Amino acid sequence: MHLLVIEDELKLGDYLRKGLIESGFNVDLARDGNEGLAMALTGNYDVIVLDVMLPGIDGFKILELVRKSAATPVLMLTARDEVADRVKGLEAGADDYLAKPFAFTELLARVRALLRRGSLQESTRFTLADLQLDLTTRRANRGGKRLDLTAKEFALLSLLLRRQGQVLSRAVLADQVWGMNFDSETNVVEVAVRRLRAKIDDPFNEKLLHTVRGMGYVLEQRDDDPL
Ligand code: CA
Repeated sequence: MHLLVIEDELKLGDYLRKGLIESGFNVDLARDGNEGLAMALTGNYDVIVLDVMLPGIDGFKILELVRKSAATPVLMLTARDEVADRVKGLEAGADDYLAKPFAFTELLARVRALLRRGSLQESTRFTLADLQLDLTTRRANRGGKRLDLTAKEFALLSLLLRRQGQVLSRAVLADQVWGMNFDSETNVVEVAVRRLRAKIDDPFNEKLLHTVRGMGYVLEQRDDDPL
């Protein structure tokens, strides 16, 4: 699931991005209207969380332009719980509306509701061999046994599972799981991959998480895996 958050308030934007990533989504964050519009028009998003009051182009204008080309579900955020704004947003084609301040759990529930209702509905369960992950219950199992994962390990595994068979670079993982620019000095990705591997692969004969030297990591079944 790929979400775009367009929010100029630095703290709120970071908070939403972090929370949504930890809830198992891939998240892009735009800090102003111009950047947000460009991303909304070029990216293939499952839901857009759109603030109304933005520097550059405001949320209503972005919504209007997005609606000309895409049916992507849009959840609008506003600082004011004004009926006029709500009506204007819904008339412009917003799918839902949330007034600030709001609880993260409410935003998450509404994003999930939009995904369920949206045409781009995607499964919340992912499977590879005897490994399973469920985004709704936030549980992962292998061989019928529950895996005890940290929030980051869960996010890392869900990204690798969603994109199974694709090699994901350390930079992509750092960005999508930790929300940070990749810095080759840090080994946070390697450490997390090692810990994840110890939980999902080490106790089992068949290895699923592979290192592709110089490229990154891939989750896939391989026939010729050395034991
Ligand atoms: Ca704002």
